[in-house]
Amino acid sequence: MVVSTIMKAAKNGKITEEMLLVAKDEKVSVQKICRRLAKGTVIILRNACRKNGHPIGIGRGLRVKVNTNIGTSLDLCDLDLEIKKAEIAVRYGTDTLMDLSTGGNLDESRRKILASVNVPLGTVPIYQAAIEASRKRGSIVHMTEDDIFNVIERQARDGVDFMTVHCGVTLHIVRRLAKHPRLMGIVSRGGTFLAAWMLHNQKENPLYSNYDYLLEMASKYDFALSLGDGLRPGCIFDSTDWYQTQEMLTLGELVERARIAYIQTMVEGPGHLPLNDIQANVRLEKSICKEAPFYVLGPIVTEVAPGYDHIVAAIGGTIAGLYGADFLCYLTPSEHLGLPSLEDVKEGVIAARIAAHAVDIAKLGKKAATLDLAMAKARANLDWQKQFECALDPEKAKKIRDRANLKTQDTCSMCSQYCAIKILRNMLRAEGQCL
Ligand code: SF4
Repeated sequence: MVVSTIMKAAKNGKITEEMLLVAKDEKVSVQKICRRLAKGTVIILRNACRKNGHPIGIGRGLRVKVNTNIGTSLDLCDLDLEIKKAEIAVRYGTDTLMDLSTGGNLDESRRKILASVNVPLGTVPIYQAAIEASRKRGSIVHMTEDDIFNVIERQARDGVDFMTVHCGVTLHIVRRLAKHPRLMGIVSRGGTFLAAWMLHNQKENPLYSNYDYLLEMASKYDFALSLGDGLRPGCIFDSTDWYQTQEMLTLGELVERARIAYIQTMVEGPGHLPLNDIQANVRLEKSICKEAPFYVLGPIVTEVAPGYDHIVAAIGGTIAGLYGADFLCYLTPSEHLGLPSLEDVKEGVIAARIAAHAVDIAKLGKKAATLDLAMAKARANLDWQKQFECALDPEKAKKIRDRANLKTQDTCSMCSQYCAIKILRNMLRAEGQCL
């Protein structure tokens, strides 16, 4: 049993192994990591139980991180396929995974995923509590408060590193929503499970009313809380409305209570937002939630691109990152349409990585752009092998170059013998100069 959390260690100025590893990864001094951890502006997902597991830092002054959601559903319940998705996501650079399984044996899914990968793993325990209640008692509204906390403890014991908990979906908000609906209602699955339970039982959200107990459990197992945005806008027309903002105010209070109990906390954010609302939403979170790391789901900036929502989210994620979001949840081409395929997972991770990397270059400068410099040099040298090595997706880059019947091997099929780089290089060489 963990008797002292990593945040408590930081508050006491104690440097831990995880802090040293994160400082090395991020090229930031360990004292800075320790100070920010103590304040709560940085969290470390400890990855405590995984063999060769590597802790990940998220928050102020650190590289923007990417999360990949995987997990079974009732219609597509193939655990081996989900594990392959986890492996592909890790291969293409995800920093964390979340197991959102809702089909099959949920304990088995989580444990097998934990055993298969070495990145930090997150879960949404209300899914399992609601699904087990539905299986045992016929409906999610018959879930008990103990069901929820038993699942949280079971998942924590397995070594889950962070949990999404929709503590800010309160009875007051849900009652108002029932009387004055918004266009897309509640689109968060966890938020909807809790809202249905609260309206049926006319009781407060157990994750809110028993928040101190949740903090005790987080302290015992030292997992981080990801305060879920159950009332995130599900379309750009619900963006930044009363429901979303009211939930954010509650989350701000819960962040402060968690910090007093030495529990690491991040806050989840929208959702669907028009591009011009993103800056205000990030500022709002940073101000109300006292600079807690901001984990954004998208944002999705237009409704009309099903099949391409990974691109839509990468656009929103880039803008959010530029204004201070710390952690991007990937979206795939299957978003709003179905459970993603292996190829969808790969495309989703790469799109989110592009967004995160673009933000890192803008915010951290040269230290985030070493691979970009290597790529630029390889392009200037027409060194194709080196270009593939620098690419986020080397196989795709090589496949595109190789599909042409190249007449000139050192150029590409775009300009062939009229290659601008080659012409200038040859001319400068003839003149006895070099670039
Ligand atoms: S052929 Fe054209 S596109 Fe291809 S490397 Fe040369 S300049 Fe670039």
